[in-house]
Amino acid sequence: MKVNYSAQLMEESAFRHLNHLERSGYRADYDEFHSLADPIYELPEDDREAAFEKVNRLFFLERLKLGDHVLRALEAVGLIPKRRRTARKSALTQKAESGEIENQEAVEELAEHAEASEDEAQAEESETAVAEMEEDDELEIEEVSAEVSYDLAREFEERIKEVTVKRAINKVDEGSNVLNRVSGNPIIEMRVLASRFSNPEEAQELDAFLIQEFMHAKDMVDPEFDYEDAFIPGNPSVKNLITARFRLLWNMYVDSRLARMGVVSVLPKEARYREFDNFYRKIPEKQRKGIFEGLWKTEKLTHEELLSMATDLDTLMSKYVDPGEITDEDKDYIHLQGSPCPLCKFPTYNWVDDPESICDEMVIEAIQIDFPDWESRDGGCDRCIEVYELRAGVG
Ligand SMILES: [Zn+2]
Repeated sequence: MKVNYSAQLMEESAFRHLNHLERSGYRADYDEFHSLADPIYELPEDDREAAFEKVNRLFFLERLKLGDHVLRALEAVGLIPKRRRTARKSALTQKAESGEIENQEAVEELAEHAEASEDEAQAEESETAVAEMEEDDELEIEEVSAEVSYDLAREFEERIKEVTVKRAINKVDEGSNVLNRVSGNPIIEMRVLASRFSNPEEAQELDAFLIQEFMHAKDMVDPEFDYEDAFIPGNPSVKNLITARFRLLWNMYVDSRLARMGVVSVLPKEARYREFDNFYRKIPEKQRKGIFEGLWKTEKLTHEELLSMATDLDTLMSKYVDPGEITDEDKDYIHLQGSPCPLCKFPTYNWVDDPESICDEMVIEAIQIDFPDWESRDGGCDRCIEVYELRAGVG
């Protein structure tokens, strides 16, 4: 796996970061940058771009170590092995087995993009070598599970050809995508605002953002998750709603795994519950909480499971609500946003849940002339109710 950064991202990030440092009273890096960058204006115009890029790269990767945020996020989600592990493993296996050589390559490859990593790896190597001697059997279990996640991360690292990090033009443009996913040699493309790199005090938010996005990308290349470019049926508003619910459920799946790993996410669990609550507030509270907690505890989900839960309330309920807890009949009376109105059949966002409780009896009768099987509990969209109010002459 290669990790690349676009010239625009390196330029704007380094520029913003240096300016932030300068404003905070740390001038050394800022001055050095200008001592290297300012003379470039003296060069022939054709040579300037390449010269600027070189300086920007030097500062982005080496002086300010901004690329380390990306490498750490890749490590945290298990797309590349932890550097500490790499060092430790090479310290453990003195013999030059084939795997060992690959590990060295991995170290060098990382070093290519973040020069400093080699020194760090060496420093850590001697540290761990000392620690190694003091270890006892209790650490063995930890060793084994670390070994498993190490091997898994190696698999991902080998399978993914490239991670490209580009500058996003605005917040909506931010996010990750996987190119060549089906044809092989997948490339993860990450778009991030350069402004996220400017303030060292906001590093935790930057890291959480990168981790969240790389988790999604990792799922997309994970055969067990089995991602597919699924066709979502329905008109645009239904599609948008299903897509929004799918995104929420997938984010919950990402967050809950991060929580189990002890990694800080972009949003705390309570904030996700509020989002969930907003989409599913028509489900009685007890069941709603049960579904959320059930989802949160689920360790493995596939793309198909998430999508079918987002599309259809029954799938979600049958997975996380005990059959005895709520009857099928009661389920029918949950009017979720986007479910069709029983009268006009259009996806409905503004439900009148129980018209009987707010309308004149004549309105109910007028509806039942057209729909003899309809009961007030079936509800209707606000427009239909309005139409029948007019028809009954009470509007
Ligand atoms: Zn209607």
